[in-house]
Amino acid sequence: MKYLAVLLSLFACHFAPSSDVPESAAEASAAPVLSTDTLAPPQYDSKHRLIRITKPEATWKRELNALEYNVLREEGTERAFTGDLWNNHEKGTFICRGCGLPLFSSDAKFESGTGWPSFWKPIKPEYVTEKQDRAYGMVRSEVECARCGGHLGHVFDDGPQPTGLRYCMNSVSMDFVRDR
Ligand SMILES: [Zn+2]
Repeated sequence: MKYLAVLLSLFACHFAPSSDVPESAAEASAAPVLSTDTLAPPQYDSKHRLIRITKPEATWKRELNALEYNVLREEGTERAFTGDLWNNHEKGTFICRGCGLPLFSSDAKFESGTGWPSFWKPIKPEYVTEKQDRAYGMVRSEVECARCGGHLGHVFDDGPQPTGLRYCMNSVSMDFVRDR
């Protein structure tokens, strides 16, 4: 498959303290290297459940740069307005940085003003999983990639119609594939 651009990123969801993100790591993501399973299509088992990808932590550490690892595997948050994708207005698909699963379409992206790429729905509901996050004394819904379990961001109920949802994502958790 031909893809014209992969934008790497930095950045995620408000409320999170900026101390989450090591500053030096931001530079490391400037030269992205996509793993071999990037853009690998989702596969399902006999019960039509998405087949998950699991890797030892050492492998994730090797494949991801420091900031990507901090966000995807340790539920960190990039600083607002520091990533490559919040201000991306191109047509295309936002895929998981960890496993390549297509997560969000540019058609569902909107300007949230938060400094993180924001969407009102995922490409398919089953491509993301939500779980309760009680960090920092707040109750939020954490959003993970349903295939590799990578932390993507959080979802809030103050988004635009038709869903009213705001998927507030870290751009470092995703790559962008421009439409052909
Ligand atoms: Zn993934």
